[in-house]
Amino acid sequence: MNIYDFQKRWRKPLFLIGVFFCLACLFMEILIFVVPQFRMQVKCTDEQYRIRYIYIPTALNVAAVVISYFLLTSKRVSQRGKNYTICSMLLFICVVIQNLHGVYASVLSLPSLAIFISAVFAENRLTYAITVISMVSTLSSYIVGNLLFEEHDVYISNYIIASAIIIVAYFCSNLLLRFIYSQLHTVKVGHTNEERLLNKMRLDPLTGLYNRGGMDSIMDELIKNYDPEHTLYLLMIDIDNFKRVNDTYGHQNGDVVLRTLAQVILDMGRKDIIPCRYGGEEICVMFKNMEIDDALRKANQILSNFRNVRYDFSGDHSITFSGGFVQYDPKYTKDDWIKIADSRLYFAKHNGKNRIISIPVEETEQII
Ligand code: GH3
Ligand code: MG
Ligand code: MG
Repeated sequence: MNIYDFQKRWRKPLFLIGVFFCLACLFMEILIFVVPQFRMQVKCTDEQYRIRYIYIPTALNVAAVVISYFLLTSKRVSQRGKNYTICSMLLFICVVIQNLHGVYASVLSLPSLAIFISAVFAENRLTYAITVISMVSTLSSYIVGNLLFEEHDVYISNYIIASAIIIVAYFCSNLLLRFIYSQLHTVKVGHTNEERLLNKMRLDPLTGLYNRGGMDSIMDELIKNYDPEHTLYLLMIDIDNFKRVNDTYGHQNGDVVLRTLAQVILDMGRKDIIPCRYGGEEICVMFKNMEIDDALRKANQILSNFRNVRYDFSGDHSITFSGGFVQYDPKYTKDDWIKIADSRLYFAKHNGKNRIISIPVEETEQII
């Protein structure tokens, strides 16, 4: 799961919090309107109250929620853009309330909520931008309170307290951000180590090729995603007279031959040629995304390059292999595919070795 998938999960609950916040504000305004004792701080007529504290803020908040909803559900907006949208929506709602009831320090410092919430998205720039807007809005609510709503008692001390709370909120969010970053880093390192370990488990230590387990999973994957446009081929290799090589030159030199064969195959390119150590001195090579002639030419090139290697310990004696080559057909299971390659390899062994057989050789193939 990447970081954006993780953040995506958080956006929905935060959006619902925004909607709930809007409804709660509307409810509070209506409550203040109908209960005379609550209205003491607000010195205006009923009509002014309805317009200023109920109709206008409700319209603004609903517009913010609706616009945010469209942006959050749009496919054109990036994941990052959606993070910005949700934080902006929450900030906007806080700013609307802040500018209406700017007489209380607690209400004035409401944008600090949006600052805290922005930390969820672990983006320093976003938190910083929200803090700057919050400070500007606090200043503007002071001006709005002073100039427009003369009926309010505007205390400069409240604005100073609110600004201080917003700054503290920013530093706390920053701390939270650093904590999130360090957690993300730990998770990332763990993930990379796990991936490395998994990769290592799929490799054969002697040749560096995929081992049998790695081969099985790669083959399953290739078969699962098979597409006739991108053909697949399998070459099964078995070194000729390898027992004799071991007996004559020693097992350590036998290992050198195996490693050399692996290197010869890897030198042919790693993108569309996937070699795996199937067993002792048997290697399976999968070719993909190429024409059959091209794959066969590459298979024979591997044989010729391997045959031409000269080893310190063996003088002029060249070592060869036999191979069974077969194109994948969607009617094959993985085992069928390997079985056909194996039967062609067997045929090559019994017809002089040092060759690759790519044509049907046995009745069993026809049955499959
Ligand atoms: P053929 O041409 O019929 O394949 O004859 P061969 O001697 O190669 O056939 P066989 O399968 O009887 O022998 C395979 C030998 O491969 C036996 C084993 O000692 C050797 N071998 C298997 N794995 C390794 C390895 O990792 N290192 C070394 N040095 N030898 C290995
Ligand atoms: Mg063998
Ligand atoms: Mg052999």
